[in-house]
Amino acid sequence: MYGYSCEYCEGTVKELLVKKEVFKHKNGFVMLENVPVGICDKCGYRYYHSTILKRVDEIAEGKRAPARTEHIPVSQLG
Ligand SMILES: [Zn+2]
Repeated sequence: MYGYSCEYCEGTVKELLVKKEVFKHKNGFVMLENVPVGICDKCGYRYYHSTILKRVDEIAEGKRAPARTEHIPVSQLG
């Protein structure tokens, strides 16, 4: 899924399975669990495979039912 060169440095994008990742969508926030995120081993830039972004779109737009809904505590600094 990943393993390609980073767009911003000479590092390599490595796959990391993240337990929870929150995505911002124009319709709100969507949380995915067990997400294979691509992370550059040099600069740490995060990449999301198109299948992940497609899933976020589907849930945010109501085309696919979420497994469950959680309320996310929000805190603002400044
Ligand atoms: Zn990089």
